[in-house]
This record gives sequence, structure tokens and C-alpha cells, in this order.
Amino acid sequence: MAALPIAEFPQSKPGKKLVRRLRADRSQMIRHIVQWAFVALNLWLGSEFFLWVRFFESGGNGAFVARPSGVEGWLPIAGLMNFKYFLSTGQVPPIHPAAMFLFVAFLLMSVLLKKAFCSWLCPVGTLSENLHKFGKTIFGRNLRLPRWADIALRGLKYVLLGFFVFVIGAMSTQTLLGFMNTPYGLIADVKMLNFFRHMGLTAAIVIGLLVLLSMLVENFWCRYLCPYGALLGLASLLSPVKIRRDAETCIDCAKCARACPAHLPVDQLVQIRSAECSACMICVSVCPAGNALQFALPPRQAAAPAQRWYRRALSPVVVTVALAYIFLGFVLWAHATNHWQTHVPREVYMHLVPTANSVTHPGI
Ligand code: SF4
Ligand code: SF4
Repeated sequence: MAALPIAEFPQSKPGKKLVRRLRADRSQMIRHIVQWAFVALNLWLGSEFFLWVRFFESGGNGAFVARPSGVEGWLPIAGLMNFKYFLSTGQVPPIHPAAMFLFVAFLLMSVLLKKAFCSWLCPVGTLSENLHKFGKTIFGRNLRLPRWADIALRGLKYVLLGFFVFVIGAMSTQTLLGFMNTPYGLIADVKMLNFFRHMGLTAAIVIGLLVLLSMLVENFWCRYLCPYGALLGLASLLSPVKIRRDAETCIDCAKCARACPAHLPVDQLVQIRSAECSACMICVSVCPAGNALQFALPPRQAAAPAQRWYRRALSPVVVTVALAYIFLGFVLWAHATNHWQTHVPREVYMHLVPTANSVTHPGI
């Protein structure tokens, strides 16, 4: 596969006066704190879930650890299936309801704040971002695919999304309920954990290849393969908050476009509608000009730039609070209505969890 070096961008054009921003940007520091806090949350959920699985694998010996329902955030297909069930019946599904609440929370985040889930919360996005940095340190540079390959590969995640939507869309509510109540549906989370615990050679090679590609090509998984990101990207087209450039204060230095991990022409547009924008605010962080680039609602009608963006631009603290509000809001709502836990008798888990590796998909 031929690769091109990172494209060169023009330097600032003469004629526009730079009015420097007054305060240093803190968006990336805050975003990284949020990212690692979410990684820590997921590690805690993963270890609690592992202990829960070990309890059943050991025949009930040792201390019982409650199953953390938050792991269902790693079951987006179950979330989509349950969401369809909920839309069709008006009832919260009994198996993996947390998957649905988290799925809807992440969807709502995208509708309101672009694909912020991907660059602020998703642990895979965090891993991908850091693999890219690591790759740059090791290899001294990253690769950028030729435009034709980039466009073709970007379509892959939509094909994968289309496949899941088609299959789930064709299932009746009874089929959805039936699927979730099969042994496979009941322990889909255990199957996921066991995939990583007892990884075969083929899976290890594929994951190793993805890691290598993520080190070489920025956001390889997110940009080309993640169907969840594809769905959130489509939802993000509705977001009223976007990266917005003020052509009056912008000095056309193109630093924003050079820094954008999605390779978007930020310096050429007045707003970024693209489904690829993950609201990472990296472009905002590198912009030297005051009021030139912001993650914002549409500007006010005003002559002065500062007035145009007054209470329109979202600070990284506001983004963090909004994400936390949506996330915790759905989790607490599900808890309060007793819809957070999957209620399956302990004897059923005692039978299924130790034999999870022999449980196959009902369609196979
Ligand atoms: S346009 Fe800005 S916020 Fe969007 S992906 Fe590029 S750098 Fe991130
Ligand atoms: S918006 Fe982009 S091109 Fe304009 S001043 Fe800021 S970094 Fe430079």
C-alpha cells in the first residue's frame, strides 16, 4: 500500500493581523484527564467483572463480587438490539438493559456534542490516540494513506454499520427477546471477556496487525473500521455545537488543519459539519488567534468577534460537565427505575459461565 507523507499546508497569509488569544488553552489537558479517568473506570469495571466470572468458574468458592452492569457498555450490539426492542414495545428489555441506557447516552452525546464520545470517553479511542503518538516516537513519523485509499477505507465502517442495522432491523421484537434469552445472549459479556482471555492465534495476529496499523496510521481503527463510531458520526451531523471558525479573526495560518487528526480542512471552512469530527478540540488548542476557532453554537449577530462568541463557545470544562451530566444522568435514571441490573438467577450463571467457551451463537 503506497503511503504519502503528511501533506504540507500553507503558512499564514500576509495581510491579516494576529490578535493573540488572551488565555492559554487547557482543552487537551482536561480532555486527557477525562480520557484516563474513563480508562480507569473501565479497568475497575473489567476487574470486578473478572472476579465475578472467576466466582462462577470456581464453582462458587471464594467471595462473591456483584456483577458490574457497566461492562455492558462494551456490548453496543446488545445496546442497539435492546434499543430497537424498547422503541417497538415501550418496555425496557430484561437482559442487558444497561447496554441500552449506555448506548442511548452515547448517542445523545453525539447528537448534542458531535462525536465527543470518541475522543473524550472511548477507551479504544484513547488507546488508538496513544498508539499513534507512540508510533510517531518510534518510527519518527506517521503515514497518511493516498486520498483514494482513505476514502474507500472510510466507507468500510459504514458497511459494517449497515450490516448490523440491516440484521437487527430485520429481527422482530419476539426474535430480539428470544435471542437475548439464549445462553449466548445471557452471557455475551462473558464471551467477550473470554475472547481476550483465551485468544486464539488468528485473533492475536489480527489484533497485533491493528495495533501496528494504529501506530503507523492515525486513528486507524476509529477512522476506518469502527461501526459504533460510524453510527455516532451520523448522529453527530445533528449537533448544534460544532467547530466554528471566525473568518475575520482567523489569520489563515492553517495550524488547525495541520493538527486535525481527522485531516479536516478546518482553515478553509466556517463550520465543521463532517461526521469525522470527534470534537477533540485539538484544532482549537493550537489556534493562536483570539476568537478565531471555537467549539460553539452558531454565533450571535454582532460586530465584535468577542460578542459574536459570547456564551456561544463551549469551554472544555463545559464539555466535561455536559458529558458527565448525560452519562451519570442515564446511569442514575436506570438505577432509580431498577432497570440497571440484568436479573438472572445465580444458578443459571453457575451453569453457563464455566461452560461459556462451548456456548455458540444461536445463528451458527
Ligand atoms: S476539526 Fe478540530 S475537533 Fe474536529 S476532529 Fe479536527 S481537530 Fe478535532
Ligand atoms: S482558525 Fe486555523 S487558520 Fe485560522 S488562525 Fe486559527 S489555527 Fe490559524
